[in-house]
Amino acid sequence: MTTRTAWPENVIARYLTVGGATVDLTYQLTVHNPPQPYATLAKCMGCPAAEERSHYRTYYSSGGFVSDTVEEHEPDAADAQARTWAQAHAATCRALPKPSA
Ligand SMILES: [Zn+2]
Repeated sequence: MTTRTAWPENVIARYLTVGGATVDLTYQLTVHNPPQPYATLAKCMGCPAAEERSHYRTYYSSGGFVSDTVEEHEPDAADAQARTWAQAHAATCRALPKPSA
């Protein structure tokens, strides 16, 4: 079977697994208006595996004072990690894609 389904609108990247399923990358959106992406989600469509990487990282100073923590917005880093996970999972996952309704 070689039919290809159209990508859902919110899918930013898609990896084909060795089993023929896909690992889809999407942004997790906040409930704010307008919605803001706060994490990148890599989800396998063939098995329950999924990996979520937050776009926000908290850095702690070496001094250990709570007031010195800094929250950075790093969506690119989260994307890169999610893509790495998706690629690694796609290379090993042998689950078959669920039949589409
Ligand atoms: Zn999988």
